Amino acid sequence: MLSDRVQRIGFSSTLRIAAKAAQMKKEGIDVVDFSVGEPDFPTPSNIKDAAKRALDKDLTKYPPNDGIPDLRQAICRKFKAEYGADYSPDQVIVSTGAKQCLYNAAAALFNKGDEVLIPEPYWVSYPHMVSLAKGVPVYVPTREENGFRVTVEDITRHLSAATKAIILNNPSNPTGSAYSASELQKILDVCVAEGIFVISDEIYEKLIYDGFHLVSVASFGDKVRKNSVVINGFSKAYAMTGWRLGYAIGPKELIEGMSKIQSHQTSGATSIVQWAAVEALNGPQHEIGRMRGEFERRRNYVLYRLGQIPHCSCYKPEGAFYVYPNLSWYYDKSYDGVEIRNSAGLAYYLLKQARVALVPGESFGTDNSIRISYATSMKNLEVGMERIVEALAKLSPTHKAKSAALNNAITKQQSFAPLQMVADSRVRDGLAAEVEATITYDSYSEWNVNVGGVVLKLATNSPHLLDFWQENWYPSPLEQELEPHGVIYGVKDAKGREASAFYHALSRTGFLFNTAFYPQLRALAFGMVEEIGSRMFDLQMIGGACVETKVGGVALISPPGTGGGTHFATLLKRPDARIHSADGFFVRWAGGVPVADSVERKLLMKTDLAEKMPELTRLLDRSKLENVITKRDDCQTEACEHGGSCPLDRGEPRCYFGSEISRGLVDPYWFGGPQKHVKRTQIRKIILLKRESFGAKLAKPSTDAALKLFEEGAILSTRGGYRSQPFYNPFILDISPDRLDQLRRQWRRLLDAAPLVVVNTEVMKKEEALEAVAKEIG
Ligand code: PMP
Repeated sequence: MLSDRVQRIGFSSTLRIAAKAAQMKKEGIDVVDFSVGEPDFPTPSNIKDAAKRALDKDLTKYPPNDGIPDLRQAICRKFKAEYGADYSPDQVIVSTGAKQCLYNAAAALFNKGDEVLIPEPYWVSYPHMVSLAKGVPVYVPTREENGFRVTVEDITRHLSAATKAIILNNPSNPTGSAYSASELQKILDVCVAEGIFVISDEIYEKLIYDGFHLVSVASFGDKVRKNSVVINGFSKAYAMTGWRLGYAIGPKELIEGMSKIQSHQTSGATSIVQWAAVEALNGPQHEIGRMRGEFERRRNYVLYRLGQIPHCSCYKPEGAFYVYPNLSWYYDKSYDGVEIRNSAGLAYYLLKQARVALVPGESFGTDNSIRISYATSMKNLEVGMERIVEALAKLSPTHKAKSAALNNAITKQQSFAPLQMVADSRVRDGLAAEVEATITYDSYSEWNVNVGGVVLKLATNSPHLLDFWQENWYPSPLEQELEPHGVIYGVKDAKGREASAFYHALSRTGFLFNTAFYPQLRALAFGMVEEIGSRMFDLQMIGGACVETKVGGVALISPPGTGGGTHFATLLKRPDARIHSADGFFVRWAGGVPVADSVERKLLMKTDLAEKMPELTRLLDRSKLENVITKRDDCQTEACEHGGSCPLDRGEPRCYFGSEISRGLVDPYWFGGPQKHVKRTQIRKIILLKRESFGAKLAKPSTDAALKLFEEGAILSTRGGYRSQPFYNPFILDISPDRLDQLRRQWRRLLDAAPLVVVNTEVMKKEEALEAVAKEIG
């Protein structure tokens, strides 16, 4: 349902950790929370009073889209007074938090493919904001020794013709480091010279220590002001996180662009909150000083405690309320058999062992550190730091060999592109011309495979498609004389195209443009084999799994959402079971019986099946993988996000459960050699799982009734672009009337030979349904 862009992002890690800490607290565990990104001070009372006054005066109607004039003027006055910078109110926009300003700036600025420099470590949301605006984040690593600040050299090294902007965060979340005026001058000079627009997030502007002099990019003159936007807000300096108010100040043209977006989005920030913000800026500022003093004291304390930890280094921050200690020495250490491998593992260990919640560096793009927020009471800091010191001391060296690196490819396209059937040969020729124009000789590869007797050629410039194609199928000789039955072009980098798929039946040619999502190629291949094989030698394709038991081959057909994974896993657990195929196989008639052939050399399996088949984990670790989650930010399961047991939290290098689309190519022999795998079996039973809130739990329809059921059988949920299909087979490409006739005939013959059992998994408990199937198989 979700777009690819959104599918690729998870909730902010800070949110997740806070949720986990909250859950532990609910369970009665006294967690100390160092993950919080907000001051633990109340909003000053004069600000609250201003909001109350606005309420009393009924200032509760739609405010102007860009913010109330008083507030925009107050913001301009602040920049004049503090930085000598001249701005007019039409260069200011007020939004629901600095976060929204940043997002709107990205949306207003970036075109598809624009590169945006993001110094690393970065605040967690920047890369997502850039990607959501269709820009491309380009990470610029910094070094702890340089105070995590980028230099001119770092910037120039990452420039390209597509570079559009840089996001600076001064002072920084997570490191607390800040740029001096002279450092900033050099960076801004190169940005102006190279035409790199500067987005300067100065939300922690007021929280600076040791008398550090922080300057805004606004103070560097007209040229810089024309080339930059400053983002700031009220969350941190005025302890107003929940009020949700921020602003952007910069070139009129950009502010207007952001204003257009906002006019269709929120129509502006809450009116009374804006009146409170006027008071925040114009009223007394002494609360900031008090808070700053307290934060400085806490920072010093945390640094002192970190100094006592062996092998820990920590940059002494100039600002914000975070420290970012490097604790990578503790990776590869273990406690109680649990090994820590990375920052996520360390954070998880500290949460469990020390009962301290903090954010792993991985979330900020650098894995050597963890982030400690000292926006919590001195008492909490004392308790938490003590616990961290103790827990780290318990870790001891691990002697285990490191597990092998994962062989995991992440594809840009993460879902099926709709398949378009091409009838017109001229259209086909046009597509072929496009292939020729895109695939150059030096990137061209072709590889013939034999799928159930049908020879298919893949011609491609995509290394990933070629890799999976070769792994998935049995090879067929690639010879000049041997014409393949069908050809698929897998074309990457086709200009001006979205991910798309075409099939021209007459010439048996498939085209995939700009998608390396392997299930799409495999589905097209299966579809072509189904079509070609059925016409050539009456091959019948079953869109399901097959397991051989002592009664013979059992076909398991399970449309999405019917519990197929559980039933498949349970079938395989039987001592007499041998795996045949996982998702699609072919039936031929030999000697009057239906013989099922497993046509895949490696089975493409959804990795989340490992939840039901723990032994699969070990096999997947050795398999070629696609789109397996290795970063917690990419996780898509609610359970993990809200405190479930996440393998990445335990320091595992991957999670097989967090994504619907992650798959591995598993060698079926790995399940236990020839004892556990069979390539050919006779179909004796067909189990169809259905989910209907009505109807019998179990049905054994006659051949006629079964045939009717199959013919009507539609895949209820979508397989991306694949239409609902008769015979529960999502792979079928062509359902013309003569094909339907053939399918009916094939299925009648099969249903006569192998009885059908329909199991309604909606009206039965899981165990009951499993038992019913077991009973049927005997
Ligand atoms: N930028 C940075 C660097 C931050 O740390 C935060 C808050 N965590 C924000 C922006 C967002 O601030 P606001 O509450 O105004 O949306």
